Amino acid sequence: MFDFELSPAMQNIREMIHWFAKTEIRPLAIEADRTHQVPREFLMKLVKMGFGGGSIPGRFGGGKLLGEPEGKKKESEINRIGAIAMEELAWGDPAILLNIPGPGLGGPPVMIMGTPEQQKMAFEVFKDTENPHWGAYALTEPGFGSDVAALSTTAVKDGDYYILNGTKIFITNGARADWNVVFATIDKSLGRAGHRAFLVFKRTPGFKVGKIEQKMGLRAAETAELIFEDCRVHKDFLLGGEEYYEKKVKGGGFKGAMKTFDQTRPLVAAMAVGIARAAYERLVEWINENYMINRPIPRYQRIRELLVEMDREIKTARYLVWQAAWMGDVGKPNTKHASMSKAYAANVAQRVTSKALEIMGRDGLERDNLVEKLYRDQKVFDIFEGTGQIQRIVIYRRLFTKLYHYT
Ligand SMILES: Cc1cc2nc3c(=O)[nH]c(=O)nc-3n(C[C@H](O)[C@H](O)[C@H](O)COP(=O)(O)OP(=O)(O)OC[C@H]3O[C@@H](n4cnc5c(N)ncnc54)[C@H](O)[C@@H]3O)c2cc1C
Repeated sequence: MFDFELSPAMQNIREMIHWFAKTEIRPLAIEADRTHQVPREFLMKLVKMGFGGGSIPGRFGGGKLLGEPEGKKKESEINRIGAIAMEELAWGDPAILLNIPGPGLGGPPVMIMGTPEQQKMAFEVFKDTENPHWGAYALTEPGFGSDVAALSTTAVKDGDYYILNGTKIFITNGARADWNVVFATIDKSLGRAGHRAFLVFKRTPGFKVGKIEQKMGLRAAETAELIFEDCRVHKDFLLGGEEYYEKKVKGGGFKGAMKTFDQTRPLVAAMAVGIARAAYERLVEWINENYMINRPIPRYQRIRELLVEMDREIKTARYLVWQAAWMGDVGKPNTKHASMSKAYAANVAQRVTSKALEIMGRDGLERDNLVEKLYRDQKVFDIFEGTGQIQRIVIYRRLFTKLYHYT
C-alpha cells in the first residue's frame, strides 16, 4: 500500500510534541548552550510527563509518549512514532533532546540482546517518578571510533566475573547514567567474534567517570570519558548471557552493536531533519522581517532559489527517514535505508544551516542567533552513530546485492 498519510496516533503525537518543543524546549535552548546544562526542574517536568520511559515497551514499565492515547501504543508503529517525535524534539533543541531522561542509545542493545531478567533490571529504574534516570551506550575508545573491529577494552573471565579494563570516550550521558552498555573484547585475536556487551551499573567497583568533553556543538549535552580499571562485572550482566554468544550467535556482541544502528540511525537522521527545519523556519521569519522578497532585485531571486532547494531537501530527507523507520516497523531489513537516511539528513542539516547563515549575513553570526547555534550543533550528526563516509560504505556494500532499485 502507498500511503503518505500519518495515522491519527502519529498525527496526535506530532502535534503534541511540537507544542511541547515550542513552549518548553525552544525557550531554554540558547541559555542551555551557554551554560552547558539543562535546569533540573525541566528534567523533572519531563520525568513527571512520562518522557523517561517513553521508549521502553509498556511491559517493562515504560511511560506513554506525550499525546499518545491511553493503551493505544502500537508496537508496529514504534520506529515511525520515534522518528516523528525526534524530529519535533530536535526542532525544539537537539542538545536538550539528548538530555531527556531514559535509556537513550543504551535501550536498543538491551532490548535486542538482553535476557528478560536483564531488561527488567535495566528498565526498572525508569519507573521512578521522583528523579531523572539515564542509560548510555559506551563503544567509542581513544583508539577508535568508526573501526569497531579495533575495540580494545578487555573483559577477562575470572570465575563468575568478567574483569573489564579500558577507557571509553565521548559517551552521551555516560557520567550520569544509572548503567552503561559497555562493549569489550574477551580475546582480540578473535576479532568481532570476541566482542561482548555488558550492562555496567554506576557504582560497580573499578568503574569511574573521567573528564566531561568540551564540544563545538551540542554543548548542553553531556559527553563523558569512562574509565574501567579492574572493574568486576558479574556474568549475569553480560547481555544475553554466555550462551547467546557461544551457541546462538557467533560474533553476537558486534552484531548486537550493529543491529542497534538499524534502529537508531533513522532516529538520529530524524533529529537532523528537525535541525534543518528549525534553521529553515527561522530563516523564513528573518527574511519576512528584513526583505520584501517579491521585489525584482537579483539577489532576491537567488534567495528564492535557495529556499526552494532547502525545502525540497528537508522533505526528501524526511521521506528517507520515514521509509527506514517503516521498514523497521514491518520487519524488513533496513540497514541500507537506515544509512541512507542518516547520511543524507546529516548533509541536509549541514547545507541548510550553512545557507541560512549565508543569507542572514552578519545577523546570522550573532551569538544568540538560533541558526548560529544550529550550525554548530549539526556537525555532530555527520560524526556520531557512524560518520558520513561509514554510511556510504554501508550503502555501497549493499548496492550490488540486488540488481534492481525498487527499494
Ligand atoms: C557529541 C558526540 C556524542 C557521542 N556519543 C557517543 C556515545 O554515546 N557512545 C559512543 O560509543 N560514542 C559516541 N560518540 C563517538 C562517535 O560515535 C565517534 O566520534 C564516531 O564513531 C567517529 O569516530 P572518531 O571520532 O574516532 O572518528 P574516526 O573513526 O577516526 O574517523 C575520522 C574520519 O575518518 C573517516 N573514516 C574512518 N574510517 C573510514 C573508512 N573505513 N573509510 C573512509 N573514511 C573513514 C571518518 O568518516 C571521519 O571522517 C559521540 C561523539 C560525539 C561527537
